[in-house]
Amino acid sequence: MSPKKAFQPGRKNSPGRPQSSFGQFEASELFCSRCRRAVPVRKRLLLILPEGDKYEYLCAHCSNSLGTKMEFEERDVQILI
Ligand SMILES: [Zn+2]
Repeated sequence: MSPKKAFQPGRKNSPGRPQSSFGQFEASELFCSRCRRAVPVRKRLLLILPEGDKYEYLCAHCSNSLGTKMEFEERDVQILI
C-alpha cells in the first residue's frame, strides 16, 4: 500500500533580487528619429566593463540606434588606501 503523497508544487516565495536603492531608470520607449515617433526599444549588450555593462538601445522597428546606457553593477569594490 502506497499512499499517494500530496505533491505540492510549493511556490517558493522567493523575494527575487533585492531592489537597489539606485532606482535605475529602464527605458521602454524612446523617440526614434527615423520612425519619427516613440518606439519600443530593444536592448543590446555592447560592452562588458569591469565597472558595469554598456547597453545600446535600438529601435524595435528599424534597429536605429537610440542611445547607450551604462549599467553599473553593484559589486564589492575594494578600495585600497
Ligand atoms: Zn525606428
